[in-house]
Amino acid sequence: MDRKLIKKKANFKTQCVHAGELVDKVNGGSISPLYMATSYKFSDVKINRYPRYFNTPNQKGLADKIAALEGAESAILFSSGMAAISTSLLSYLKSGDHVVLQNDLYGGTRNFIKTEFPKFGIEFSFTSGISSKDFEKEIRKNTKIIYIETPSNPKLKIIDLKSVSDLAKNNKILTIIDNTFASPVNQNPIEFGLDIVIHSATKYLGGHSDISAGTIVSSEKIINKISSSAKNFGGNLSDYTVWLLERSLKTLYLRVKEQNKNALQIAIFLENEAWMDKVYYPGLTSHPNHELAKKQMKDFGGMLSFDLSPKIDCKKFLLGLELIKPTMSLAGIETTALSPKLTSHSLLTDEERIEQGINDQMVRLSAGIEDYEDLKDDIIQSIKKQI
Ligand SMILES: *Cc1c(COP(=O)(O)O)cnc(C)c1O
Repeated sequence: MDRKLIKKKANFKTQCVHAGELVDKVNGGSISPLYMATSYKFSDVKINRYPRYFNTPNQKGLADKIAALEGAESAILFSSGMAAISTSLLSYLKSGDHVVLQNDLYGGTRNFIKTEFPKFGIEFSFTSGISSKDFEKEIRKNTKIIYIETPSNPKLKIIDLKSVSDLAKNNKILTIIDNTFASPVNQNPIEFGLDIVIHSATKYLGGHSDISAGTIVSSEKIINKISSSAKNFGGNLSDYTVWLLERSLKTLYLRVKEQNKNALQIAIFLENEAWMDKVYYPGLTSHPNHELAKKQMKDFGGMLSFDLSPKIDCKKFLLGLELIKPTMSLAGIETTALSPKLTSHSLLTDEERIEQGINDQMVRLSAGIEDYEDLKDDIIQSIKKQI
């Protein structure tokens, strides 16, 4: 099975369409054929191909595409973002090790760490700071990993990639970043020295709210180590979904560019409204980490959050929307909005939410690719139901 490897030669948009394509030698079809086989003739191949070994033709092809998009050597695919996150951490950690993590992580990640790590005797500390100094304070003799997520959820806080990566390198600590919110269109952490990049492909990579998948991107050496543990954990992605995800990625650049544009326009519009208290978007000059975001991001992403003024009922606002969907997930081509307190961050205690600056008036919005004017009109009509 030939895979088209155009890794270093082509630009991002071209990689989205072509990197890792499988060549249809039999019929000359113009897209990757789908190989659903779970069993391969022994004498025909040098390696034992099997879905849970992460080496079927479609898995390898798509892994090449995603690696190319992040400017990395290698990648591996999983059945969910959480499978990628848990596998990356558990491939490297053992009892007695310690991990430093950013405080405001994706809720599922935080839950995984808090409930599973104590069972294995793995220690952890959270920091609410964003500079390498804040992370440095938490480093212990047994610290093995620094784990970050920037822009963060839901406040779009920006962590300094270069300084955290330098700190980790000086202390021989591995760095992992969940790059889901940025997507490879807006941020490529490997350029700043991060070791492992994770995506919940359920979000921007899939982009149509119809695929559950995850991926880890890194050096060949690290991916080899992770895949040998991953075989034991068994979180591989079905080849059919691999094929669908390849299809989605062909339009990744187009989708995310439109989402970036809509998010920025909505953020600018909201910032000037009387019924709005605060808008959180790294593309706004009022964002406290705007300069840092400009330095390390290519564009500012499709996610924003805002605090409605106290005279607006947040739940009524969400239910009053007619075009924008009040749903849980994010990054689809359709615009969605939610209350972090009532949904994405409902598992946190009140104290944890206060610590992360999540209040009752906060709405998180995931910009889709609809027309900006229609989105703006929808927000206005829902507000007008209350004032
Ligand atoms: C959704 C999400 C995850 C988890 O991904 P699943 O595919 O739902 O397992 C991890 N990190 C971030 C930032 C997410 O948004």
